[in-house]
Formats: sequence, C-alpha cells, structure tokens
Amino acid sequence: MSSQSIATWAAVTWWPATPSDLIVDAHVHAFPPEVVARREYFRSLDPHFAVLYASPRARLVTAEEVLAAMDRSGIAGAFLLGFGWSDPALCRMHNDYLIDVQARYPDRFAGFAALQPRAGAAAVAELNRALAAGLRGAGELMPHGQGYRLDDWTVLDPIAEALIAHDRPLVVHVSEPVGHSYPGKGDVSPAAAWQLARRHPSLRLVLAHWGGGLPFYELMPEVAADLANTYYDSAATTFLYRFEIFRIVAEIRGGERLLFGTDFPLLRPGPFLRRLRALDLPPPVLRAILGENAARLVSGDRSWPRMRGAAQEG
Ligand SMILES: [Zn+2]
Repeated sequence: MSSQSIATWAAVTWWPATPSDLIVDAHVHAFPPEVVARREYFRSLDPHFAVLYASPRARLVTAEEVLAAMDRSGIAGAFLLGFGWSDPALCRMHNDYLIDVQARYPDRFAGFAALQPRAGAAAVAELNRALAAGLRGAGELMPHGQGYRLDDWTVLDPIAEALIAHDRPLVVHVSEPVGHSYPGKGDVSPAAAWQLARRHPSLRLVLAHWGGGLPFYELMPEVAADLANTYYDSAATTFLYRFEIFRIVAEIRGGERLLFGTDFPLLRPGPFLRRLRALDLPPPVLRAILGENAARLVSGDRSWPRMRGAAQEG
C-alpha cells in the first residue's frame, strides 16, 4: 500500500472497527397505523399530505413494514422521519407513535420528531418532549407544505437553537430549483438551506434529496466552509439524478457527510443498494455513505444500530 493510499485510508476510516456491512437508511417515512388505515380522512386534514398521498400508488407504511424491508435488504438501522404536518396536534400524534416505535425497536430505529415550527414555543416544547422520550432528532421539515421559509429566522431560530442545545440533528426537505416537477417537490431552495447552515454553524443539518444540488456549490471554498457541519442524504435519487452523483459529490466534498437514504416506501432499498454498489466507489467511501456516517450522526459511541439484538424483537 502506497503512503498516499494509507493517508487516504486513514482520513476516511478514522472511525474504528465498524462492520463492513453496516447499512443505515437515513431517510424513511413511517406512519401510525391509524393514518395508514384512514388515509382519506387524514388527507382531508392536511393539504400537503393530501398532495403527496393523492395517488393510491403512493404507499403509506408502518414501522413493522419498514422493518421487514430492512431485514430483506440487510439494513441494520433506519432514520424514521416524521411528516411535515401543518397542525401541531398531528405532529404530536405522529410523535407519540414514533416514541412508541423507538421504545420497541431501539436498536433498529432512530426516530425524528415531526414539528410545525410555526407553532413557536409550542414547537420547541414538543421537540423537547420528543427528545426526552428517546427520539434522536427532528424532521423531515417540509417548509413548502407547512407554510414558512427555511430562512425565516423568527420561525427557524428557536428550533435550531433547541437542537443545538441537545446536540441533535435536523432533517430538512430541499428541492432542485430546476428540472421536472413532482408531487411534494416544493420550492425549498438550496440558497435558503445554505443561509440556515450559515446562521447556525453548529447545527447538524441534514439536507434531504442532495440538498437540491447545494453540494455542487461546495466547489466554492467559502460555501464549503459554511457547510462544514451539513450532511446530504440521497433520498429519491432514482427519480432525480444519475447515480454518478454519489461519486461526484464524494469527490467534491469527501464521503464523510453523505448519507445513504432511499425515501422508502417511495423507493425500495434493494435495487437502490445494487445501483449504489455498482458504482465501485472506494470501499472506505462506500462504507461511510452506507452507514458509518449515519451511525455517527445519531450515536457518537456507535452503540446504534444493532441488527442482531433487534432481530429478537417483535
Ligand atoms: Zn423530502
């Protein structure tokens, strides 16, 4: 091994002794059984939910269905994201479910609280409740569906500050300002996401869907500096980009802040993983993207996830 490859290896695998097959899906949506069973009723309650789940082909799944898909694909852990409900009461209902799931499958899931940031102090109180009950972060915020902008500081500052105080990550939906439209795309711009990261540099921010293309601007040194604490997930890649995006973004900014995420049940993990592995990324980079980065993000001591322990559950 040349000295250069040793240096590269050390830079990328500074995290010790991680199993090579650790896979974490960092972007999954699970809903309470009553939402799955009464989709039309909940569509009548929330305009954004109504748009995203208008088509009967847009599946809604419970945590058990997520778990079955994970087991089929050898996925050890998943970030179980909430939904961007407009009504804080629906966020609370969703969080009650995620808290219950988190308690039943602590080794497999990292639950993220659903929040309506427009609720102000009540949203912060709900975040504190959810984190105290075991959830690991907040999101996926959906500003376009929930009626605020990502760079509206009166709305975002209290949430960002609370998450910084707890040292927990925030997942935010971001979309491409160009290209085709699709249900749920919205207009959450990479520019607004960059502003949020700039304003709260110690917030661990996860920008979903490749941050709407923001990583390409990390070729600008000052933008890269602003985004030093920002992660990107690959949710819905199949519908948005050529898979070469994994290689290209890893080249631009390194593999340490990229998270494999599918947006399950929108995309199934099996085919996604096959396409990702077919890219022949350097093994340390692939391992970082597949699971090490996500595990580190929610569990500094790598105590999560654990597949074997969870197999005895349920
Ligand atoms: Zn999203």
